[in-house]
Formats: sequence, C-alpha cells, structure tokens
Amino acid sequence: MTQRTTWPGFVLLVIQPEAFYRKDPILAYARKTDGWTEVARQTVVWTPERARALLSPEPAETTTPAPDDEVHNEQHVAALCEGRSEIVVLRRATPPVEMVFLSNEEATPLEQTSATDWKRWLELCGPVDPAEARALAPRSLRALFGVDKAHCGVWTSRDVTQITSDLAKCFHDATEVERIYERVRVVGEQVAGGGSAAKSYLSSTVLETLTTALSRLCMAQPAQPLEWLGAYLQEAASLQGHARLPPRLVFVLGGPGAGKGTQCARLVAEFGFWHVSAGDLLRAEIQTQSEQGQLIDEMIRQGAIVPGHITLELLRKKLVDAGSTLAVPGVLIDGFPRALDQAIDFECLLRRADFCLFFECSEAEMERRLLQRSRSSGRTDDNPESIRKRFRTFIETTMPVIEFLERRMRVHRIPAERSVDEVYAQVRQLFL
Ligand code: ADP
Ligand code: AMP
Repeated sequence: MTQRTTWPGFVLLVIQPEAFYRKDPILAYARKTDGWTEVARQTVVWTPERARALLSPEPAETTTPAPDDEVHNEQHVAALCEGRSEIVVLRRATPPVEMVFLSNEEATPLEQTSATDWKRWLELCGPVDPAEARALAPRSLRALFGVDKAHCGVWTSRDVTQITSDLAKCFHDATEVERIYERVRVVGEQVAGGGSAAKSYLSSTVLETLTTALSRLCMAQPAQPLEWLGAYLQEAASLQGHARLPPRLVFVLGGPGAGKGTQCARLVAEFGFWHVSAGDLLRAEIQTQSEQGQLIDEMIRQGAIVPGHITLELLRKKLVDAGSTLAVPGVLIDGFPRALDQAIDFECLLRRADFCLFFECSEAEMERRLLQRSRSSGRTDDNPESIRKRFRTFIETTMPVIEFLERRMRVHRIPAERSVDEVYAQVRQLFL
C-alpha cells in the first residue's frame, strides 16, 4: 500500500477558460454530488510555458508520448491560454460511516479513504474527452461542462502521485502552498472535538460572516434580533449558493409569441405563483444603463441568447427573494432555460425544476401575434427582422433544451394555437 505517502488529502481542479463563467455551478455540483469543498482558489491567466509545464508528463513517466498525444497536448495548451482559469483546491469531508463499509480489510481507514476519494474524484471528472464522457459518464463534470477534447471544461492531475507537484505548478507562492496544507490538515482533524482544530475551522469558514452579522445587528438594533439575525444569515448563505428556494419551480418555454407571458399571468391570478420572465429581467437590466445593460440591449435586438451566467445570476436573485417570501407557493420561470448550459447550470447551482410547460405554436401564428403585439409593446425586438432571428435561435438553441429536459423532468407539451381560454383550461389542470 503506497497510498499513505502519496495521498495529500486534496485534489486540484483547473476550471478552464471555456468554462470559467460556469465556475460557481461547477463547484456547487462537486459539493452537492460528492461533498467536495473548497480549500483554496485563485484566478490565473496561463502563459504557454506554464500551461505546457502543467500538462506535460513528469520526467519520471518514462514512456515517450505518441505523436497524437503531442498534438493534443499543444491544442490543450492553446485552450488553457484562451482566457482566465480558476484553480481550485478541494477536499472531501468523508463521513465516518464510509470507513466501516469498505471491503479492503487490511488497509487502514486513512488508506481506504484516500483510495475511495481519488476514485470518486476521477469518476466525478469523467473521461478526458467530453464526447466519450457524455456517452459513458453523463453526470461527470466533463460531460456537463466540456466542449471538445482540448476544451474539456476542467483539468485535474492525471495521477494521485502528481497532485503535490501539480500544486506547486499552480501556486507559485510557497506561503500560500503552506497555508493550503495547513487548511487541509485542520479540516481533516476532528473539528467536533473542539480545541485549536475547531477554532481554525470556524475562523476559516463562518467566523467572518458571523462577526459581520453581529456588528450589523448592533447597528440596526432591530425589535426582533433573533429573527433579524436569522434572515441576515440566510441571505449570506444564499449568496454562497445555499439558497432557500420556493416550494415549486416550473419552467415555461415555447417560441417567441407562443403565449408564455399570457398564460403565466392567468396562473398568477388564480394560484398566486410568482411570474419571473427572463426577458423582463434582462430588459430591466438594460434600464440600469450599465455596461452589462448595453451588451444585453444589443443581444436582444439581434434576437440572440444573452450569456448564460448573466441571465442565471439575475434569475437566482429573484428566486432567492421568492424563497424568503414564505407565502409564495412557487415560481413560473418564463423563457428559461433557453440554452443547454443554462439548464445544466441552473440545476447545479439551485435545484431541478419540478416540471416544464412547453407551448407549441407554428411560426406563422407566432409571427402574426408578435407583429400585433409590436403595435403596443414598444419592444425593440418585435420587428420582422429580429423576429426571424429569434425563430432561428429558438430552433437551433432552445429546442435541444426541450429534449434535455424531457430526460430529466415531466415536460407538458401544450398545443398553443387555440384561444387563450382554451389553452388555459388545459394548463390550469396541471396546477390543481
Ligand atoms: P410570449 O410571452 O410567449 O412571447 P405573449 O404571451 O406575450 O407571448 O403573447 C404574444 C402576443 O400574442 C400577445 O400580444 C398576446 O396577447 C397574444 N396571445 C397570447 N396567447 C394568445 C392566443 N392563445 N391566441 C391569440 N393571441 C394570443
Ligand atoms: P422574451 O421576452 O422571452 O421574448 O425574450 C426576449 C429576449 O431576451 C430574447 O430574444 C433573448 O435575447 C433574451 N432572453 C430572454 N430569455 C433569455 C434567456 N433565458 N437566456 C438568454 N437570453 C434570454
């Protein structure tokens, strides 16, 4: 058994440039599915030299790489240098019960844990080629966040024995490396036992938030201090991805003009759901006249999809608001997810929606409705040219989402060419 000397107690993950904006969903997914928690992270831009050093096999690995491997390696180097990457050190808080059920009776608990942790980590990352990952390990990080072999979403050490040297290639600052080892050690100890381990753990996790919360409490001096503190901490936690969400989440999809907004308004009136339209959130953002607003404005005029992370962040905030309003029975999420990455990231960061309404309507009828709407809507995209682009985006980008959702939840296809009343008569049945 060599594990004892080689397992450093953590793994390294590099979230590559093509997945950089999806780093929060990636880390939330790793935490939720297998308990991997962050020990340290850092944003970097790789130079070709540094990227090559990271990706090249160690001199100890004696086999000469095949020409194909070398070509792939160079493509991978180029991919890593395309923008910002996030380097993350993660460790897994192993529940003690796991040690009991392991089969290798000769190994010590530490050896058993390290072997399982590493195996689980490799399974979570999945095969290096995302196409292969999608076929063989559809829930792996590369299947969900990778594009192609070089743009595979995430990189990790190829072997457990390399983690330590890889860490030095990722973090040049020796003090930071020391701090990482210290944090891994501290979190690995029996925190519940109290003493200095507990102190260190608390100071690296909740102490700062708690101290801020208490000083804010003193400033606010609210009449109900405990309730106030509870709400403050809930909001702080939700910002870190542990949002309290409304009881029911329903995706509402369909082509532009299919009648999503119209049917949602009826559901709000009858069932008290909140209606959150991705398009409305984005249009409200344009009004702020921020740089982000200008980008959104242009994309909406072009009938294109606004980058997923922008839409998701606006939506997340709304859903957290709804979740903290106890009377809200659920939220109708209108016009989201419109692209595959949005569907995946939503589920990683928040949770799976309960079901999806999909309004089916012909292009001719949708166009007729949109042109009619344009007389009063004042929308910059209700014109023949934008409408044509929106139809194309819908077919190319949103239709694959329907197929994806159909594998994950109930998608109710609603024929939407009938009158508003007829369509609603069918829709409301799903909420009774
Ligand atoms: P979406 O939210 O899917 O873009 P809307 O709900 O805004 O679509 O509807 C687009 C236009 O079509 C609106 O002017 C609306 O009044 C009209 N409309 C909606 N549903 C119907 C329907 N079933 N029959 C006729 N017109 C409709
Ligand atoms: P809608 O109001 O639903 O018709 O949306 C209008 C426009 O907003 C779309 O054509 C897109 O440009 C943008 N948009 C709406 N929802 C999304 C989304 N989920 N993701 C990205 N862009 C969106």
